[in-house]
Amino acid sequence: FHYPLPANEPVLQYGPGSQEKIVLKKTLAELKKKAIDIPMYIGGKAVKTGNKVAIHPPHETSHTLGYFHKGDEKHVKQAIDSALKAKEAWANMPWEERAHIFLKAADLIATKYRSFMNGTTMLGQSKNAYQAEIDSACELIDFLRFNVHFLTEIYKQQPISSPGIHNRTEWRPLEGFVLAVTPFNFTAIGGNLPTSAAMCGNVVVWKPAETQVYSAQMFMRILKEAGLPDGVINLIYVDGPVLGKVCFTHPDFAGVHFTGSTGVFNQMWKTIGENIPKYKTYPRIVGETGGKDFVMVHRSADVEATVTALARGAFEFQGQKCSAASRAYLPSNIAEEIKTKLVAAVKSMKMGTVEDFSNFINAVIDERSFKKISGYIETAKKDKKASILVGGNYNKSEGYFIEPTVIEAKDAKYVTMCEEIFGPVLTIYVYDADKFEETLELVNTTSPYALTGSIIAQDRDAVVLATNHLRNAAGNFYINDKPTGAVVGQQPFGGARASGTNDKAGSMINLYRWLSARTVKETF
Ligand code: GLU
Repeated sequence: FHYPLPANEPVLQYGPGSQEKIVLKKTLAELKKKAIDIPMYIGGKAVKTGNKVAIHPPHETSHTLGYFHKGDEKHVKQAIDSALKAKEAWANMPWEERAHIFLKAADLIATKYRSFMNGTTMLGQSKNAYQAEIDSACELIDFLRFNVHFLTEIYKQQPISSPGIHNRTEWRPLEGFVLAVTPFNFTAIGGNLPTSAAMCGNVVVWKPAETQVYSAQMFMRILKEAGLPDGVINLIYVDGPVLGKVCFTHPDFAGVHFTGSTGVFNQMWKTIGENIPKYKTYPRIVGETGGKDFVMVHRSADVEATVTALARGAFEFQGQKCSAASRAYLPSNIAEEIKTKLVAAVKSMKMGTVEDFSNFINAVIDERSFKKISGYIETAKKDKKASILVGGNYNKSEGYFIEPTVIEAKDAKYVTMCEEIFGPVLTIYVYDADKFEETLELVNTTSPYALTGSIIAQDRDAVVLATNHLRNAAGNFYINDKPTGAVVGQQPFGGARASGTNDKAGSMINLYRWLSARTVKETF
């Protein structure tokens, strides 16, 4: 099976008058014209329960995009049954055929449905056109194509044989079904978590966050059009506890592919642990969870590069990235200059709806996030140990808008330096530029997370020192760059400690987790 090493899908620019912009604008208008009815997909069938939940754009809560049909325990059971029924034929389908379904889905997104993947992501998750393009077009396409490539490489791996002894590895899928639980913040993650497991021959129950359903159902429809057999991926909308109750007590539960909060992941792990005797096999537990991602700035840093890394790292995607820069350590010799330029950069960021392409900042995802993020801002406003350098206002009269906000903390362990906020809030701390090594230790020990981080320095010794000292502080470590924007195939993504199992999304490491090899020895 020869498939050339895929290249990353080119990112379209949506410049004024461009064809892609015209098409996207048209699609947005079309999507907004009619509230759609969104079924679950169980065993390939559209399932409507009548228990309808409205979906609103986070930036325009008075508008309704559609209604999804919410399921209950019965639907989780049906999804598992459908998956198990589809299993044998799917697992036995030749890899070439299986692979082509995902490659076709990637091509369908790249051509026919690009504006619909981007449009549903923009409206449903309040991402601007550029953010949506990177997520729901390019990254999703890359996940599909690169995973096909990586899995092809894995399947080639075979043990040594000798005269009279023939050894082989059968790269079997797991025995049972895989559960994929996906977050609102990346449509690409929503697509990757079920498909990477399915590609390996597994059957999947997929539950996206309610705030992701609008784009998730679009992707599901594309998978169907690409030829995904009924029951291989079953898309359901149910409450987490209902899902857990059925899936984690099922004898055929074979693994969970999760992206979301550390708290939920811990709870899953505990429940799975308690139910181990019920399962036929030890389930695979793969999770990408929280982050408190740092930017460590050395006294030799380029000021402009630092400001760009902070502004983009903290505020693109409204800071709603696991990888977003959320704590920065500025050296005293250049701190004032960085602060001044950062404040100016943040002030220039336009905030508003996604339909105006000149807006850089859009709304945060929902009321719960809005409350949590604004709560941290209020704490900082009242506290003597912190001050607001820029931003700090928020308003939900039309949508969940929070200004990009920079907090300066006087204490390196101030609450907003330690806890994950998941919003457009960056906390900075100015350290004595002569105490670089001590501050590295502070970076390493301030948070339980270890997802991403950056060192900004022109002094090579400082780069080496930070790279070594912070070895375990981040799964993705960036030198002279922002700590965000990992590209599939270029920077495999994931973190350890409280940030997850570090099974690098879009890499062989991840795919191995969905395979259970059988070694066969034959003598003759
Ligand atoms: N892969 C994304 C990045 O590198 C972040 C994904 C996430 O937020 O989970 O920025």
